[in-house]
Amino acid sequence: MFKVSLNFPIGRTFEIECEQCSNKYDYDIELTHGNTEQVASYDRNIGLEIQYESDISVNCKNCNDLIETKLDIWEYPIGTIN
Ligand SMILES: [Zn+2]
Repeated sequence: MFKVSLNFPIGRTFEIECEQCSNKYDYDIELTHGNTEQVASYDRNIGLEIQYESDISVNCKNCNDLIETKLDIWEYPIGTIN
């Protein structure tokens, strides 16, 4: 088990591309314990870097198709989302 140091939920804006119509839009995504899990951690010279994966589903703002995707999120240094 990894140690979770982030304070969920975290609201962020991510650019997500629709596979149906190829349009890209910014979506306000809320990262929570429910949709985000740690998948790896790495020792860097100033500390730990932790990789997260979020399962996201949103409706395309153009064609309304359901977009289901995974976001890769990096915490480094600890407490900072990249
Ligand atoms: Zn679309």
